[in-house]
Formats: sequence, structure tokens, C-alpha cells
Amino acid sequence: MGGGYKIIFFDLDGTLLRSQDGHIAFNRAILDTFGFPGDIRTIRPDGKTDPQILQEIFDVARQEVHWGPADWQTFSSRLEECFTEAISQGLTRIQALSGVPELVRELSRLPDFRLGVVTGNMEATARLKLQAAGIGECLGTGAFGSDSAVRNELPKIAMKRWCCYLKLPVESSDCVVVGDTPRDFEAARVNSMKCLLVATGRSHPIGELRELQPDCLLPDFSDTQGAVDALVRLFE
Ligand SMILES: [Mg+2]
Repeated sequence: MGGGYKIIFFDLDGTLLRSQDGHIAFNRAILDTFGFPGDIRTIRPDGKTDPQILQEIFDVARQEVHWGPADWQTFSSRLEECFTEAISQGLTRIQALSGVPELVRELSRLPDFRLGVVTGNMEATARLKLQAAGIGECLGTGAFGSDSAVRNELPKIAMKRWCCYLKLPVESSDCVVVGDTPRDFEAARVNSMKCLLVATGRSHPIGELRELQPDCLLPDFSDTQGAVDALVRLFE
């Protein structure tokens, strides 16, 4: 064990929260940045990182767009603006999933536990979504789609970030990944972290997630104490 903290990395979409009409900001940012009417609804974004999603939208539309770091910067700034606007105008609605506010509040009260984020969203939009869902104050830092397009790299980035933040060693055995897709599971496994899967995502029913044999599988987070106990057990 490292410094004694137990860190839980939560995925966002389908795990902690759900966006209604979240495509509006993404599509607008594509149009404004690349002059192309890309549509996130033409692909399955679940478990993927924002840069990966962007590339898939181009691929599906057979658009050869060569984009580099500068274009990504422009796109991500625009995405942040569009998301802020869509949320404030009520065009996009973001809600915490059932039991999530209770769960993160309970976990925040446990002295040795720290809550972080591992998500394919870029950092700025992740923060916007968490705030809009009313759970922003419960979740600390982590790793984002703005850190890497490759989801499997994110848990280690999150671990290192917490290590710097706590000024203590943090090891894989001190971390658990919580997500709703096989991609969350794979990212946990390649980083030697345990994984709790919750079947509240849009595209992976509980039977499919069970086949992966995660360390824990829950239908949802409606049973707060059950979910807290399950997470605590994963660190034993
Ligand atoms: Mg997800």
C-alpha cells in the first residue's frame, strides 16, 4: 500500500450523470471549429475520449480532416463555451443518476477516501457537467480526455496527479475505477486497478457487463449503503 489513502476514480457519463441533448454543444463546436456539420449522434460515444469521438465522427462521415494540437485547442475552447451556453439556456440538461449525490456525499465523509475522476470528457467540460449535476464539490482531480485520447492511459495519469496533490505515494492497489462500459473495465485492468461497474449506461446492459467479471457489479447506485460497503470491500 502507498500513503494510506483510498482513491476512487469515477467515470462521468452513464456512471455519475446523464446529459439530455448533450449533442448540441458538441455538434456546434465541430461546426464552428471545422466548418463541417458533424454529428455525435452518428457514433456510439460511450466510454470513449473526446478526441477519439471527434475522430470517429469525421471517419463515419468520410471526412478527411487533419487536425493537430492547435485545432484541438480551438475545438475544446469552443466546446466549453457551447456547453456553458447550452446548460445556462436549458437546451442541455444534466442530471446526477439515481443515488449518486447520496453516494458521493457518504464516500466524502470517510476519512481515508478520496474521490477523483477518470473520464473521456475534457477537463473543462467534465467540471461543467459535475457542477450542473450538483456534485462538483464532492469530486477532486483525476484524468480527462484533454490529457490523452487513449482511455487506458488515463487511470495512471490520474494516479500520478493524486500522488502530486497528496504529496504521498499512491499505487494501483490504492485506486479503484468505477464506470459503466467495458472500456472503463479495460482501463482499470491494464493499470492493475480493481473495477466496479454499474449498469446505468445507455449501451451496455448488466448481462454484458457481468461477462467481463468485474470486481463488483451493481445495477445502479440507488442503495447507498450497499454501494458504499461494496466500494470499501474492494480495498480490503
Ligand atoms: Mg461512461
